[in-house]
Amino acid sequence: MYKIYKTKTILNTHKHCDGGWFWDKYSAFPYVGCEWGCEYCYWRDEKYNPHKASRDKKVSEFDDAFSQYIKAKENAPELLKKALKNKPIDLIYLDNYQPIDSQYQYTRKMLEVCFGLGFPVFINEKSPMLLRDIDVLKKINKKSYLNVGWSIITNEDNKIRKIFEPKAPLVQTRFEAMKKLSKDKILTGTVFMPILPFIYDDEKNIEAVIKKTKECGGQYVLDAGLTLWGYCGEYFYKALEKYDSDLVPKYKNLYSNPKLLAEYTIEIHNRVLKYCQKYNLTPYIPRPVSFYPKELQNNKKTAEKFYLEARELQMSGQGGYKEWAYRKGAWALDDLNEDVQKIYQNKGLSGIMQIEGIGKSLADKILKVEKNNNNFIKRR
Ligand code: SF4
Repeated sequence: MYKIYKTKTILNTHKHCDGGWFWDKYSAFPYVGCEWGCEYCYWRDEKYNPHKASRDKKVSEFDDAFSQYIKAKENAPELLKKALKNKPIDLIYLDNYQPIDSQYQYTRKMLEVCFGLGFPVFINEKSPMLLRDIDVLKKINKKSYLNVGWSIITNEDNKIRKIFEPKAPLVQTRFEAMKKLSKDKILTGTVFMPILPFIYDDEKNIEAVIKKTKECGGQYVLDAGLTLWGYCGEYFYKALEKYDSDLVPKYKNLYSNPKLLAEYTIEIHNRVLKYCQKYNLTPYIPRPVSFYPKELQNNKKTAEKFYLEARELQMSGQGGYKEWAYRKGAWALDDLNEDVQKIYQNKGLSGIMQIEGIGKSLADKILKVEKNNNNFIKRR
């Protein structure tokens, strides 16, 4: 069921960019819920589920309101235009195309707003419907930046995939769309999330997805594991039971033991790294910086290295203090209004240490990264 309504706000501005992952600073969603209804989708968790905030009594009438009750924000494009007008240019995340968009075209209209105002865009996509708007997408790509990540968990369109992605478009159509974008020189790749334990985590599936990404002109593979928080876990277990009830206790054992889960996550992530190396793809999305003021691009690139370190530590289960130190260092660099190289040139290491959030050890690391830059300016 669909409901068309007027929303009060459309733009989410995040305190920090989604460093190491999609790099977005803003996000905007023209629809509430997702008709593709993947069984593993973490958006169903109480923490994210957009339906919970709608205070709409209809929600209780559905088994799975998230995928069965789609609300469309008819004023999304005009609100987006107003909201972005006075915002600094930065990356905006637009979520995937919904079937209802063929009728209302709110996603297209929002893309036109982004193009008009010169905002770069990232789309995490499940549907080749996106190609309908290739004209606008190409214009955004030419004017600022566009990246389309294809949400893919397996290379095979078979009964098993149907259990976990009952309504999503065929994987092969996603790969074909990836190929088309790549031919149009648009950055694209695979968002390999979640890698389902004991179902899609084997060498064969991981290599097949990565190899196919390469063949279709994708440039990266970004992987992550399955999250089973709250209602999202409760919902997923029903699908797992349908697939293979013997896996339920295996999952429960894995997800109730943080040490085991960390070891497992490292093993699977290493598998992805191995095949990314084999097929010469990056296991991350390179940070786009061309739309930032010239004098800040160097800081953003150095911050990228810190964000990626933090992500690797997080993925390898060695998070904690070190991971957060890197992340905080990246935030400090992102918030800086002056080129860190200039600071060093004028004030030396102590100048870098005066930046809020940067201690001696991070200052040394910044300097090391900067010294590897071709454009490194020596201290006067
Ligand atoms: S397409 Fe994406 S947002 Fe929609 S249900 Fe599937 S995983 Fe969730």
